[in-house]
Amino acid sequence: MQQNKTYQKLITKIKKISNLGYANSILSWDQQVMMPEGGIEARSSQRSFLSGLTHELLIEDELGELLEKLNKKNLDEEEKAVVREIDRDYKRARKIPTELTEKISKQTSTTVDFWKKARQNNNFSSFAPHLKKVIELKRKYANYIDPDRESYKVLFEDYEPYINMETVEGILKKLKRKLPKLINKIANSSASVEENSFKGNFPSKKQEEIVKKLVNKLGFDFQHGRIDTSTHPFTTGNQYDTRITTRYNEKNIGESITSTIHEFGHGLYNLNLPKKHYGTPLGFSRELSVHESQSRFWENHIGRSKSFWKFFLPTLKGRFPEQFKNISPQDCFESINQVYDNNPIRVDADELTYHLHILLRFEIGRDLINGKMKVKELPHVWNNKMEEYLGFRPENDAKGCLQDIHWAWGNFGYFSTYSMGSMIAAQIHDAISSDISLDEKIENGNFKPIRKWLKEKIHKHGQKYKTEELIKRATGEKPTADHFLSYAKEKYGKIYEI
Ligand code: MG
Repeated sequence: MQQNKTYQKLITKIKKISNLGYANSILSWDQQVMMPEGGIEARSSQRSFLSGLTHELLIEDELGELLEKLNKKNLDEEEKAVVREIDRDYKRARKIPTELTEKISKQTSTTVDFWKKARQNNNFSSFAPHLKKVIELKRKYANYIDPDRESYKVLFEDYEPYINMETVEGILKKLKRKLPKLINKIANSSASVEENSFKGNFPSKKQEEIVKKLVNKLGFDFQHGRIDTSTHPFTTGNQYDTRITTRYNEKNIGESITSTIHEFGHGLYNLNLPKKHYGTPLGFSRELSVHESQSRFWENHIGRSKSFWKFFLPTLKGRFPEQFKNISPQDCFESINQVYDNNPIRVDADELTYHLHILLRFEIGRDLINGKMKVKELPHVWNNKMEEYLGFRPENDAKGCLQDIHWAWGNFGYFSTYSMGSMIAAQIHDAISSDISLDEKIENGNFKPIRKWLKEKIHKHGQKYKTEELIKRATGEKPTADHFLSYAKEKYGKIYEI
């Protein structure tokens, strides 16, 4: 009985903290989707205040006392997981002065603003001093958590607490060894591959109708979700209310389709988390690599499959009869899977070159944080690495080291989770394929068994299992590059006849 009471107190406390966090993320959603440009000053101040308040609640002595009491008690498996997760956050947060949390929040909000202008004007030097401040603050933050370990590793663990950075580094290195060979073969392939199925004139309004129809067919729950437009597509929310965003390129409808399917995958994960555990670790998703595996599984393994285009092309033809008049599912399949070995932009990259873009960011971010590289060297190092890994130099910094928002937000250690998402997605593809006939389900638009599989194996567990264990239970293996590499070889081998 006593134990039950202590545990309930812990749950009440963590729910308060989560509610503040969710309120803060709705403010962030609003900032990116609805807020007038001039609102930034006030919004930075509101969000910084909420971050500070969240931090204060998380480091209260009383929370520590509850955790200590519970750590000595007999708990069941789920309660143990709840205590493990809160304990980790509590101990980490206790090491950070509230003042520093607020400083970081404020500094990054304004740095993002400077980043936007710098990218627009292709002016790295106007951004550099602000980025330098962010890096100094993040280094300080890492030192508070653990001054004896590599700073970048400490930051990495904010995004991926339960996958070793060595594992991730090993996977990235394996991709670096294997992918360029495949990419080169593709570049030299003489196969005739359709490239233009999605190019044409597609008014945003009509695209909006199509993507709404699409997520509806995939099984998005509009009772608990919305889809809106933003410059950079993203997903935020919880099991009761999840917001996904997309964007429209009026010259290419393929982009909004793939990016919407991607965000749908994120959204489905949120919405399938158990409602009864809202606001507690059993109702939280696992971290970024797993989240990204969900979006990439839907985007790449479903949305870029031939069966998907057999299923979806008739819908497109219904809305855009002229544009898709002479186009076949095979054309769509080829067009959506093109490999661009001369594309400088990460978010436009194909499934293969993508990981070289990530590797470069992993290496540069690490050197910046660990002090092995100065901010002013960034453009030069960036361009050299692009040349080494992809064989060309970006024409300017806007298309080079200024393209991503992440470092301006202070998100160092984040990028590799994207690649890990692809690796885990390929593992899921193989695992789910041994349970259900995936292609047949996709072709018939029967996504229910797929959603069910993902819910049973991944979504419903929240943070009950640590990341590697969750993946092992779902797919039979810990995170590895092997499934992705054989998937890539097979799929692109067929398309490019190599
Ligand atoms: Mg994503």
